[in-house]
Amino acid sequence: MAGPHDTRSTVDLGAMLHLRGQALEKGAPIALPLVSSSMYHLPGLPDGSAAYGRADNPTWEHLEHMLSHLEQAEAISFPSGMAAIAAALFATLKTGDRLLIPSDGYYVTRRLSDRFLSRLGVEIVERPTARFSEGGFEGFAVVYLETPSNPGLDMMDLAAVAADVRAAGGVTIADNTTMTPLGQRPLDLGIDIVVASDTKAMGGHSDLLMGHIASRRSDLIEAMREWRTFSGSIPGAQPAWLLHRGMETLDVRFDRMCTSAQILAERLSALQGAPKLRYPGLPGDSAYVLSQKQCLRHGFLMSLTFETEAKAEAFINTCALIRPATSFGGVHTSAERRARWGDAVPAGFVRLSVGVEPVEELWNAICDALPD
Ligand SMILES: *Cc1c(COP(=O)(O)O)cnc(C)c1O
Repeated sequence: MAGPHDTRSTVDLGAMLHLRGQALEKGAPIALPLVSSSMYHLPGLPDGSAAYGRADNPTWEHLEHMLSHLEQAEAISFPSGMAAIAAALFATLKTGDRLLIPSDGYYVTRRLSDRFLSRLGVEIVERPTARFSEGGFEGFAVVYLETPSNPGLDMMDLAAVAADVRAAGGVTIADNTTMTPLGQRPLDLGIDIVVASDTKAMGGHSDLLMGHIASRRSDLIEAMREWRTFSGSIPGAQPAWLLHRGMETLDVRFDRMCTSAQILAERLSALQGAPKLRYPGLPGDSAYVLSQKQCLRHGFLMSLTFETEAKAEAFINTCALIRPATSFGGVHTSAERRARWGDAVPAGFVRLSVGVEPVEELWNAICDALPD
């Protein structure tokens, strides 16, 4: 298996950029047309051609063609990451089932489960990410996971968990938002369904909300497609078009962001008096061995734990090349104190998302903003 910084990729990214171009007729636009139509020309009997905008849209279709190429699996797009996550959970769970979910993962997934799934008779069990690799999946219909966890950056062994859950008769759903398919490939490691918020690095420009699911199991794809059509959880043509455009530069942006994150993390960890740092690409980090084994890159997220809330806020708000904002994965470096949302982290804990700024400029700006 390819380890970090291995330039081999299992996806042909050049072909991804030319997917649509291969089928163009003379005079057709090279850029993807943005089609916004609820009705389609449909004389006579329905024959499977586009009929109505809740089920069909040529702009999504091209986006999904690209997503499927990237995931090497069938992919379905949604209007947000949570819409994709809801589709995966509601299409796989039924009354009486048990759902295992990380206690330290993206908090809205837990809230959705607690608020709506539990009252339909689904039992929700929480466990920290770092303890998933221990096994114990008997009796769970669905094991939902996120690795590295957001924001703590703990990891679990995807291949081992996928195999154990399958042996116990359950379905695995992995949230791959933080890594993207270029940084980690859960489906290749045996995971049944990938869900992702494409609002983050996939879109990359902080100008859209979108999400997708991908799976190589046709029964699960069929159920999630029905969920989308029947619940009406469909993406708008404009965000789908923007995501398609953003994905054309995903490889370039992701490469820059991960390379810069590694450089910054190495320098910060060597700096006297710097805040406590976690980055999976540092050999001393508790996630390093797993990251080296199962990820293609170590990602663009790191955490810095300052002694106090005030020092953390001063760093975030005075650094000229950091935008104080929630969310991550955009071209602009951004940071926030996660305790402000109630995550179980120290008050001085900052999640830093490294953007595409030139790394030396970023390093200087970070050094200028660190407390003395
Ligand atoms: C942001 C995020 C989501 C939710 O995505 P939206 O596009 O905001 O709905 C889900 N999982 C993770 C890990 C995220 O960071």
